[in-house]
Amino acid sequence: MRTIAVAATIALLVATNARESRAAVEPPSNPELARLGRAVSTEALKATVSGLVAFGTRHTLSDTRSPTRGIGAARRWVKGRFESLGAACGGCLTVDTPEQTVTGPRIPKPAVIQDIVAIQRGTRDPDRVVIISGHIDSRVTDVMDFTKDAPGANDDGSGTAAVIEAARVLSARRFPATIVYAVLSGEEQGLYGGKVLADYATSRGWRVEAVLNNDIIGNTHGLDGRVDDKTVRVFSEGTRADETAALAATRRREGGEFDAPSRNLSRFMAGIAERYMPGFSVRQIMRPDRFSRGGDQGPMQEAGYPAVRVTEADENYRRQHQDVRTEGGVHYGDVIEGVDFAYLTKVARLNILTLAALAAAPPPPTHLKISGAVTADTTLSWTASPGAVRYRAWWRETTDPLWRHSQDAGGATSIVLKSVNIDDYVFGVSAISADGYGSPVEFPGPVGAFFPEAQR
Ligand SMILES: [Zn+2]
Repeated sequence: MRTIAVAATIALLVATNARESRAAVEPPSNPELARLGRAVSTEALKATVSGLVAFGTRHTLSDTRSPTRGIGAARRWVKGRFESLGAACGGCLTVDTPEQTVTGPRIPKPAVIQDIVAIQRGTRDPDRVVIISGHIDSRVTDVMDFTKDAPGANDDGSGTAAVIEAARVLSARRFPATIVYAVLSGEEQGLYGGKVLADYATSRGWRVEAVLNNDIIGNTHGLDGRVDDKTVRVFSEGTRADETAALAATRRREGGEFDAPSRNLSRFMAGIAERYMPGFSVRQIMRPDRFSRGGDQGPMQEAGYPAVRVTEADENYRRQHQDVRTEGGVHYGDVIEGVDFAYLTKVARLNILTLAALAAAPPPPTHLKISGAVTADTTLSWTASPGAVRYRAWWRETTDPLWRHSQDAGGATSIVLKSVNIDDYVFGVSAISADGYGSPVEFPGPVGAFFPEAQR
């Protein structure tokens, strides 16, 4: 009897130990990722923003033929940057310029919206794609004025510089998944470049796991005099933009209003900052964008792709969408003096670490199912992810924004969480590679699926 009691106690201890908090599971840092983070260069970011500002204006409707001024010259310059980075890595980047001719409320005559993308093909899982984007176009007070100087140093020279720096740093290594570096046009005229990219991704059949859209990421001095160089905001949608009425009905019954894949991408990014960037953190903003404003992550989300918007902690509206001028001693305009390059370096580093971690990890599991109603336990099952050797089940209180508890599932594609009641928690699963890279956590069913049904 005594032996049995001891064995039972040990079994209980083992079971309890198998349940781990987040901090216990995720290693403080992976040396290879930390090395990539250190390679991010403030000087390189500064050189890119200076180069972009030198084109005078990059308004979507500005001159496309001049070799020195306007969006055409700026786009060709970015294309040249990608091509030389591609040459330096032995042809690891394919550069392309998807485009569409559009008209709209802010585009009175047909105009070509051209994006510049550099594609770093994955070694094992090349159809799976992680994307970083920023927009090259700029504007002044009058959104239709395409001749006046519109330096766009921060909006969005900063995001564009982060995209190019990501290509420079990450093209030094190979990754299982494909990384796409995307510089978009037409944002200020109505998010056209985001739509061009979404259509391009769809036409190529990419399985888009993540879009990190960087827009306005380099200012640290808010309008109110506050200075914040220690946090960055990551905006994410809680319910998916491509949600159907049937899916909304399921979500209302079973929950999941805080677990669209975009939201779990935001949680993943916050975890990267926590582990790799002491003194710097992600402030997760649980709405798709700033109040009544938008960005190029929108068209990607509408196409069904998980996407977040990355924006500085505290915006300065005197430096956005303004003619460059001085009025009553106050400086207006998006000039390079408004970019804090030490801060931009941190935000670029967060992006680069996130892209590397995502591209090195397996994709989240597909066909993730959950059951356990009217039982004491919760069961999760899924289809294996290519490149995964282990899986981990996660759960949290329904009021908790962060994944808090977890249990190793080993190499199995299902797990029973004993005495964890399905009614009381939110659940998810992540996939882990042999070298320890974990995917974002995925919420069960189509509500939380990273990839659309046809691509699973
Ligand atoms: Zn912008």
